[in-house]
Amino acid sequence: MIDYTHFKCNECGSDLDYAIGLHTLKCVSCGAVDPIEASPLDLYLAHDYKAAISDLSYFDPQTVSHELQCDNCGANFMLPANVHAEECPYCDLNVVVPVDLSRKLQPDGVMPFMIHQHQAEASFKKWLGGLWFAPSALKRKAIQARPILGAYMPLWAFDAEVNSRYSGQRGDNYRTTMRVPTTVNGKTVMKTKTVVKIRWRHVSGRVHNSFDDVIALGTNTLPIKFQRFLSEWDMGQTQNYNEKYLSGFRSELYQIGLPEGFQMAKEVMLFTIRATIRRDIGGDHQRIHHVDSDYRQVGYKLLLAPMWISAFNFKQKTYRYVINGQNGKAHGERPYSWIKITAFVLTLLALLGGGYAIFNQ
Ligand SMILES: [Zn+2]
Ligand SMILES: [Zn+2]
Repeated sequence: MIDYTHFKCNECGSDLDYAIGLHTLKCVSCGAVDPIEASPLDLYLAHDYKAAISDLSYFDPQTVSHELQCDNCGANFMLPANVHAEECPYCDLNVVVPVDLSRKLQPDGVMPFMIHQHQAEASFKKWLGGLWFAPSALKRKAIQARPILGAYMPLWAFDAEVNSRYSGQRGDNYRTTMRVPTTVNGKTVMKTKTVVKIRWRHVSGRVHNSFDDVIALGTNTLPIKFQRFLSEWDMGQTQNYNEKYLSGFRSELYQIGLPEGFQMAKEVMLFTIRATIRRDIGGDHQRIHHVDSDYRQVGYKLLLAPMWISAFNFKQKTYRYVINGQNGKAHGERPYSWIKITAFVLTLLALLGGGYAIFNQ
């Protein structure tokens, strides 16, 4: 059995849950409030990455399930591995387990929930309704087969100063004239035509990029392809880690460790680096053959971000989706109607074909 924190109402003894958007704990029974003192995270905070990984055991993160005994109903229950805040499955008592029991690295900050469950559900329906090429039955039914779960998910945020050497090619357009055979009144004659050609030459150089808070998901609970749209957060709302914001919600421990998180962040950074290289090369066209980057002053912080997570079933398949608990934006997996797509492509081809016929006359 392990110790945990439970936030209890001083007035009536019921659960105090974090009240979304209000920076306060609120009693689920009598409504008494217990304000949380605001403590914004210093956004310049960054731990030294190199020092941290040299100190981490190879096996961090670990999967340990903790057994708890509920203070309220007396039941014993296991916290799922990778979860450190949850409700008692029998009586809904909120419990928060100290992170240092399971992980070496502690969360630095938490972005409190700002979006309520009903707002998240409305956002999901709107997203579903706005999908192009979705089967009509999907929009009609808008099936919400599974309960929606409010959970804080771990994110890594990386800073880095990156010097990159590159080699590649620059292409410049030039105009030239060519003699081409052309059919005039059924006869083939040679005509002079202006054409655009590209002159390529080899280039190499160096570029510098400064990165601030490049996000990598620290969880395997969500598909890795969700990474792209789970990178938009208002960092200014981050508070220093405080268990009170977790009360009544699930909160996950990181499952993707610091080095793997940095690998993911590097892939995101490479997009920006390549864009900088293209600008540095200039000209009308660019080819990048080789990039060699040196990452310096790498810093990181570990954050908890609020998400409403669920899934829906459609034709025996499961589609996962998530709503950003800070701004309410919905994203997810989705079914496509191949009938609609085929119809669209055929219509487009018919239009293009018609246009081509007119053009030829
Ligand atoms: Zn109360
Ligand atoms: Zn209980």
